[in-house]
Formats: sequence, C-alpha cells, structure tokens
Amino acid sequence: PYDVLIVGGGPAGASAAIYAARKGIRTGVVAERFGGQVQDTMGIENFISVKETQGPKLAAELEAHVDSYGVDVMNLQRAKSLVRGDDMIEIKLESGAALRAKSVVISTGARWREMNVPGEKEYRNKGVAYCPHCDGPLFKGKRVAVIGGGNSGVEAAIDLAGLVEHVTLIEFDSQLRADAVLQRKLHSLPNVGVIVSAQSTEVTGDGSKVNGLTYKDRISNEVKHIELEGIFVQIGLVPNTEWLKGTLELSNRGEIVIDAKGQTSIPGVFAAGDVTTVPYKQIVIAMGEGSKAALSAFDYLIRLPVP
Ligand code: FAD
Repeated sequence: PYDVLIVGGGPAGASAAIYAARKGIRTGVVAERFGGQVQDTMGIENFISVKETQGPKLAAELEAHVDSYGVDVMNLQRAKSLVRGDDMIEIKLESGAALRAKSVVISTGARWREMNVPGEKEYRNKGVAYCPHCDGPLFKGKRVAVIGGGNSGVEAAIDLAGLVEHVTLIEFDSQLRADAVLQRKLHSLPNVGVIVSAQSTEVTGDGSKVNGLTYKDRISNEVKHIELEGIFVQIGLVPNTEWLKGTLELSNRGEIVIDAKGQTSIPGVFAAGDVTTVPYKQIVIAMGEGSKAALSAFDYLIRLPVP
C-alpha cells in the first residue's frame, strides 16, 4: 500500500506528491489527466516568479518535477469511490482496480460551467475567459461582457470595470442574484451596463478572436448583438466531487470541507486546491494547499500506532 495516495494531478496534486516524496515515504498519484486545468490554459502571467508561461509547458514541468522523485504516477485513471477501512483507505478506480493507502490527499479540482453556445469553445482563450484574476489585464482598454449575475459575476464585473473600458453584465433571470451590497457597488460604476432577461446564444468572432456576443431578449424575443472583445463566463465553478457524495463532508456547493491543515471529515483523508472550500481558485494557491495537505498527511502518518 501507499503511505500517501494523491487523487488528482493538477497543481495541488503535483505539489502534494513532491512534498510527500521528499519525506521518503511511498507516494502515488492517480489522475484522470495529469496537469488538470493548467492543460487548458494559454498564457499564465500570475505564477509568481515566472513572468509568463503557457499551460501545457507548466503542466509538462510539473510532471517532470514529480517524476524526478520516483513518484508512482498512474495517469488516465479515474477514481470512482473512497472507502475508509479500519487501517487502510481504498480508492476504487473506474477501470475496476483498487488502490490502498494509509493516507489520501484528494485534489480532483473543479471545472468552469460553460454556456454551451456556438463559438464558446472555438474562442476559448481567444476572448472567451473564465477567470478575471487570470485574464482581466489582457482586456485593458477593451469592451467585455460578464455572463452571470450571481456573486461571482457581479464581483467579476466590478473587478473588470477598473481595468477595461466598458463592462456589460448579462443575466438570464429578470434580476441579479448577487448580494445587495455588491449590486449597489456595481450600479455606482459609470462604465458598467446591466442587461437582464437575456439568454446568450452565440459568441461571434472574426476567425481568430471574439468580436461580439449575440443574445435573445427573453421578454421581447428580439435577437440582439453587442460588439466587444472579451466574454467572461461566470456561471459557476463545479468541484469534481460527484464521486465522493455521501462519503465525506461537502459544502452546499459540493466543495470538500477542510480545516486549516487540509483535514477532511475522514481521519487520514486530506484535500487541497480547487476541489475544497478554500477561497480563490488559482495555481499558486492550489500549490500551497497541496504542499500543506501532504505535510498534514505526513504528520498524521507519524502519529499512527506502531503495529
Ligand atoms: P485541477 O487543475 O482542476 O486538477 C485536477 C486534477 O484531478 C486533474 O489531474 C484531473 O484530471 C484530476 N481528476 C478529476 N477528477 C478525478 C477523478 N475522479 N479521478 C482521478 N483524477 C481526477 N490560475 C492561475 O493561477 N492563473 C491563470 O492564468 C489561470 N488561468 C486559467 C485559465 C483557464 C482556462 C482555467 C480553466 C483555469 C485557469 N486558472 C488559472 C485556474 C487554475 O488552473 C486552477 O486554480 C488550478 O489548476 C487548480 O489546481 P488543482 O490541482 O486544484 O485542480
């Protein structure tokens, strides 16, 4: 069995693997796709100490760093359940195999909910963005839309209004759902427009980048088009915890509830990164959280009774 088995191979999992392996303990990583969301990212400009890099490059560097410690990496394997036994934790895989470990770090990440309209995939990273902290500065002086009037959408619109020329917030419902204090702040900004009862139907572009958004006015059924250079989709970040429902404590958003050390509600099971309740989903944060969870797992292991 493994001393530490890490489920998920994004920045959090890679960092956990390196910290665990450096303790000289038997470490494994099982990942559906090593690199995680980083594989889907183009320019990264906020990975501190690296001025600019690309996602696939960073993912390859993460993998090489993990490999250099002789960690057992099982890529292209999806976990389907976690079972806590008396002295071992078992991770069952979709393939039918099962892995046993004394401690586990869950770092299965999250995924942005998509609009699922024509043009969205085609123009991803070419004007369609999901993370204002990551990509906001790329749209300096440009016109953008934010899709979604919940807290994250309104926060994004307020944030972007300070960077870009103009922000149009688009909400499907007849009213915004964000907290009143955020809505007041939003309405106080001179370069923000709000459109409610609007269903986004298409991302338009010139073949290489976004040039507009088409939406349907849900009251008049009229189809309208706005010219802009960027679209921030803020309709939810979904944690990859479907396989853990009923196993350990999840928040109402489905995130794994952890304490300051990364401990979950099950002894010996830790979690890190976008899959957890930790706020702000970013690469540097996921890496810090992954190393913390691995150190906590080590702390747990040295306290296990001597057999
Ligand atoms: P993830 O990166 O999501 O990795 C999860 C891992 O778990 C993957 O290996 C996945 O395959 C695996 N997995 C999932 N389910 C299972 C399962 N059941 N069994 C086994 N394995 C599983 N952040 C920045 O700091 N700067 C940026 O510029 C930036 N740009 C971004 C651009 C885009 C388009 C996106 C989508 C995100 C961006 N982010 C950026 C956010 C950043 O990528 C995430 O915060 C970070 O990757 C989270 O790391 P993680 O390890 O927690 O999860």
